[in-house]
Amino acid sequence: MAVAEQTNRSESVRPSSIASTVYDRIYERLMSLEIAPGSRIPIDAIARQLDVSQTPVREALARLEREGLVRKEHLIGFSAAPQLTRKQFDDLYAFRLLLEPEGARLAAERMTPEELSRLEQAAADMEHGEPPVDRNSRYSRFARADAHFHDEILRVAGNEVIRSTLFNQHVHLQIFRFMFHTRVTQEALEEHERLLVAFRAGDPEAARFAMAEHIERSRDRILVAF
Ligand SMILES: [Zn+2]
Repeated sequence: MAVAEQTNRSESVRPSSIASTVYDRIYERLMSLEIAPGSRIPIDAIARQLDVSQTPVREALARLEREGLVRKEHLIGFSAAPQLTRKQFDDLYAFRLLLEPEGARLAAERMTPEELSRLEQAAADMEHGEPPVDRNSRYSRFARADAHFHDEILRVAGNEVIRSTLFNQHVHLQIFRFMFHTRVTQEALEEHERLLVAFRAGDPEAARFAMAEHIERSRDRILVAF
């Protein structure tokens, strides 16, 4: 197992054990579609490939099931969650547009200098994370960093119902998995920067607008894939 190469990973994904390293490997394969949506995930084969026992593989799959990337069926076992349908995609974005611009507005009203610098750090992590092991891990880390950035804004907003409702949808993992083969990163970073400008200025309306624009543009970038 390549444990050593992971020790310098960013805060949000730092592994603490073999279990989380195994989790990262399977997560990357799911996000990169190396494990195709809907396909079976045989525990014994994965354990052999990763040269570990079945226990950490089971643990990783249970966690991925909670995150909505994996499903478990009685007598069949684990499989990769199916790809989002167009309807699910539209519903998810409509849902985000209801909640996240308001979350950004509330966050701009309440943000302390310390919270702002944490958010700036989260944005910077997306842009200049550690050198990626490979394209898959770079991409799956980007997905996580984006999820972290958005969650951090909602944490500052202070409405835990909004935050946990969005978090439990695991929107980012689903969406990033969907658009693995599309170009996402640079434009999203520029949109995040516009959000940060609004937060630095303490401008709630600008923050609301920037978030709405970011989500709409993200939606439009992915719609091309349908
Ligand atoms: Zn984003």
